[in-house]
Parts: sequence; C-alpha cells; structure tokens
Amino acid sequence: MDSLKGHCLCGSVQYEIKGKPQFSFLCQCRQCQRITGSGHSAEFAVPDEITSITGELKCYDMTSDNGNTISSGFCSNCGNPVLKRSSGYPGLLFFHAATLENPALFKPQKVFWASSSQPWDFVDPELEIKQNA
Ligand SMILES: [Zn+2]
Ligand SMILES: [Zn+2]
Repeated sequence: MDSLKGHCLCGSVQYEIKGKPQFSFLCQCRQCQRITGSGHSAEFAVPDEITSITGELKCYDMTSDNGNTISSGFCSNCGNPVLKRSSGYPGLLFFHAATLENPALFKPQKVFWASSSQPWDFVDPELEIKQNA
C-alpha cells in the first residue's frame, strides 16, 4: 500500500495518500453506527501531511464517549462520510475504508467499542478487542 486513492460516492471529493496506514480498525461505537447506518465503521489512520484532498468536505463535530472531539467529514454534495478527525489523535486522519478505490487493501487489526456492538453485527473473532478508542 504505497499510494492509496479514494473518493466519495459522487466523486466530488477525491483523496490520495502517499504512504501506509499507521493502524486500521473497526469501530462499533454508537456514533459510527449512526454515521455508517450499520453495525460498525471500517477505518484506517494516516498522517495529515501525507494526504491530499480535493473537493469540499463539510464537517460535523461531536464528542465521543471518552470525551474526544470527533469531526466527521462528509461530501457536501452526496453526503458520503469520507473521513474523521479526533482530538485524541492530533495530526491523524481516519478514512472510511470503503471510500478507497480498492477497499480490498484494507486489513483491520482491532475492534474499538465492542461493548456497544449490536447483537446482529459480527466481526472476525481473531481481531484484537479494544474497549475504547
Ligand atoms: Zn460526493
Ligand atoms: Zn466509532
């Protein structure tokens, strides 16, 4: 994964990452459930400075269950959630994995907020469980 490219549903927001993710995870917190409309988000973290983004991202700020300010960035045209920022991880961007041109490159390592998981949401039992992000 030396260069990663992705875009939102309509293509107005495009990104390119020159480098590899620092870590990759699934998050089962209630906010990720709402953002994705599903049981968990699938995200990878990369440094801001190796990422270039074109197009207009709107941001919605919220407070996570452990007190971090999370900013959810979504396309102002199609509404597709593309990335997040967290005050707990300054300098990192958290991209939603399925916005990648090749989402099969995504390899989750951990599960965050498994305590909030829904009974119908199943993840790989081999993944490391972290109670909060
Ligand atoms: Zn879009
Ligand atoms: Zn989450």
